[in-house]
Amino acid sequence: MFNAILLNRKEDGSTAAQLTQLDDAQLPADGDVTVAIDYSTINYKDGLAITGKAPVVRKWPMVPGIDGAGQVLESSHPDWKPGDAFILNGWGVGETHMGCLAQRARLKGDWLIRRPQGMSSRTAMAIGTAGYTAMLSALALREQGVEPGDGEILVTGASGGVGSVAIAILSGWGYQVVASTGKLDEADYLKALGAAEVIDRATLSAPGKPLQKERWAGVVDSVGSHTLVNAIAQVRYGGVATACGLAQGLDFPASVAPFILRGVRLIGIDSVMAPAAKRIAAWQRLASDLDPAKLDAITSEITLGDALARAPEILAGKVRGRLVVNVNA
Ligand code: NDP
Repeated sequence: MFNAILLNRKEDGSTAAQLTQLDDAQLPADGDVTVAIDYSTINYKDGLAITGKAPVVRKWPMVPGIDGAGQVLESSHPDWKPGDAFILNGWGVGETHMGCLAQRARLKGDWLIRRPQGMSSRTAMAIGTAGYTAMLSALALREQGVEPGDGEILVTGASGGVGSVAIAILSGWGYQVVASTGKLDEADYLKALGAAEVIDRATLSAPGKPLQKERWAGVVDSVGSHTLVNAIAQVRYGGVATACGLAQGLDFPASVAPFILRGVRLIGIDSVMAPAAKRIAAWQRLASDLDPAKLDAITSEITLGDALARAPEILAGKVRGRLVVNVNA
């Protein structure tokens, strides 16, 4: 038997979440690698799954947890053998396939990547999908040719998981980062991560003009809706915005003006189905470039039991940085 969070759908359509015990026979049959989880995390999407606030879970009952790190216990996959250290992010785990907020999981070997040399399970999950997505966003800015000397980079949702890691990465690479937050009392935290300036997210969250004063060479947005639209309206001629999230909303009430008059580029970022080569490259850069002291400052450790109470908080925007879950505590 092992400990797990289990989600069930109630008759009224709402979600019941409990900490319970499962046995291996309850793990999904369509997996070729059985793993011991050391750490998982609570991402925004896990908050949606546990609370049932959005239809993230599409198979019941479900163990949530889109991220996991630990060791392989048993494998019939040619690339994986007992004792191998792995990281799992996405692929529908915690949505359509039982996830990693548990001490054990059965996964597909094709979904796993090797944990970079020297990176602990805890560090991998302190980074988690949020941090890996921050790296995908930061790498996209570089691939699009945005250089540190080109001008300021706006990071929205700055005190959240994606935002906090993005600030640490980009400032570490020498970019001038401006953090947009609803938590102005966290300005010292954001500056310690590397933000040169902190602005109130209220300046971006309401409907605005299609073209505004040019300011940003690049944008890392995890908020969507009017915030993304205003950020794009403020991108300098030829600049780049990346979009990965929907913390304000899934809508995109924009005009084409910044694209057709300023040559602005909008780059979509997806972590869930990203191909293996892209994941491995992002995790290698996280291992080499993310300052461990900054990651420590971002991270709070909780237990599986705590995860149930913290899930609504992440949706309410009340969580600072990253929640790493010690599933064995
Ligand atoms: P967090 O909850 O940790 O961070 C989101 C932050 O957004 C909050 O901390 C808050 O920051 C800000 N925010 C919250 N509510 C609002 C609002 N109503 N209006 C404006 N800002 C708001 O979540 P994550 O960092 O884990 O994820 C961020 C987003 O990115 C989510 O939507 C998530 O689903 C998405 N995501 C997408 C991925 C992909 O593959 N495309 C992968 C990972 C995440 P502050 O208080 O500082 O303003």
